[in-house]
Amino acid sequence: MLKTGKCACGAVTFQSLGPWRDIISCHCDECRRTTGHFWAATAVPEGALKLTNAAGLKWFRSSDVAKRGFCTGCGASLFYKHDDKDYIAIGAGCLDGETGLKMVEEVFTHEKGDYYALSEDVTHSTAWSEAWKVD
Ligand SMILES: [Zn+2]
Ligand SMILES: [Zn+2]
Repeated sequence: MLKTGKCACGAVTFQSLGPWRDIISCHCDECRRTTGHFWAATAVPEGALKLTNAAGLKWFRSSDVAKRGFCTGCGASLFYKHDDKDYIAIGAGCLDGETGLKMVEEVFTHEKGDYYALSEDVTHSTAWSEAWKVD
């Protein structure tokens, strides 16, 4: 299904036909610092993501195994790409309109902040999700 998305200023826009993974939130220290809270993302196969405007996109190597794509114009956190995975995670808040997706899992919960509660109706994990890949 075609979905579109963009950052807050429009210097990064994208679209994909999917398939789209449901939403997984990551509460690890790295995601918390990148986003200012925690990272909630869908994902598509890497080759399925089409950047329709990459003018503001910059990639930041956030760890030994991954990089993150953000907008240099507005600072939005848009993408996460693990070196060994063939899909790209996309910040769920950057999608346009109704997503048809739902939150299914919260990971790295042992690194969460102490100022908020986890959702009670989703799976919790202290490691990578088995659902991390696209179905
Ligand atoms: Zn922007
Ligand atoms: Zn994380």
